[in-house]
Amino acid sequence: MRIGKVFVISAPSGAGKSTICKRVLSELDNIAFSVSMTTRKPRPGETDGVEYKFIDEQTFKKLISEGEFLEWAKVHNNFYGTPLSLVREKINQGQDIILDIDVQGGMQVKERLPESILVFIAPPSMAELEKRLRGRKTETEEVIATRLKNAEEEMKYKDKYEYCIINDDLEQAIAELKTIIKKYR
Ligand code: ADP
Ligand code: 5GP
Repeated sequence: MRIGKVFVISAPSGAGKSTICKRVLSELDNIAFSVSMTTRKPRPGETDGVEYKFIDEQTFKKLISEGEFLEWAKVHNNFYGTPLSLVREKINQGQDIILDIDVQGGMQVKERLPESILVFIAPPSMAELEKRLRGRKTETEEVIATRLKNAEEEMKYKDKYEYCIINDDLEQAIAELKTIIKKYR
């Protein structure tokens, strides 16, 4: 049986990664989303177990020591990690899986699973990124400032990714990601 492919999708916060991933997941068959664990508090509209599994820092650290994560990182002052068990289960069932993770996590996955495919989503400009981050209205000014500052660093990883999609026109960006995934089927 076919072993599924691991697609790592990274982007600076606000570039549109979640929007693109959601659409691609609903429009393609045989592809799953890797639900990460995080110590971040849920945003309005987020459901435990859907966007993330929300856990406390003590539990997170215990899972690290037990080797439960394929990768983990501290991003914008919170911990995030990918449970290895789910990724393994899905690819062994022949399903592809999308990991929506930051650039530090992307580098770890590439090292552990060299056959994984890395896709970077870039905003058309830093000004547009700021506009989208504010427009989402889910973060405080302080959190927006941290995320914008980190965006500059994250953009430096772009060339380490196999593909870069510029999310200017949303429909086009979605189509590009779908084309990349289909290429590996
Ligand atoms: P991320 O997951 O990368 O942090 P989101 O998917 O939450 O980003 O998108 C940030 C905001 O930008 C959302 O309000 C979303 O609706 C909007 N957005 C996403 N893609 C585009 C686009 N191509 N043009 C304009 N706005 C967009
Ligand atoms: P947000 O708080 O906006 O949902 O996510 C913040 C950042 O954390 C995003 O770049 C997102 O991709 C990243 N992230 C989400 N889950 C994981 C994970 O399991 N591991 C790592 N390394 N980053 C993650």
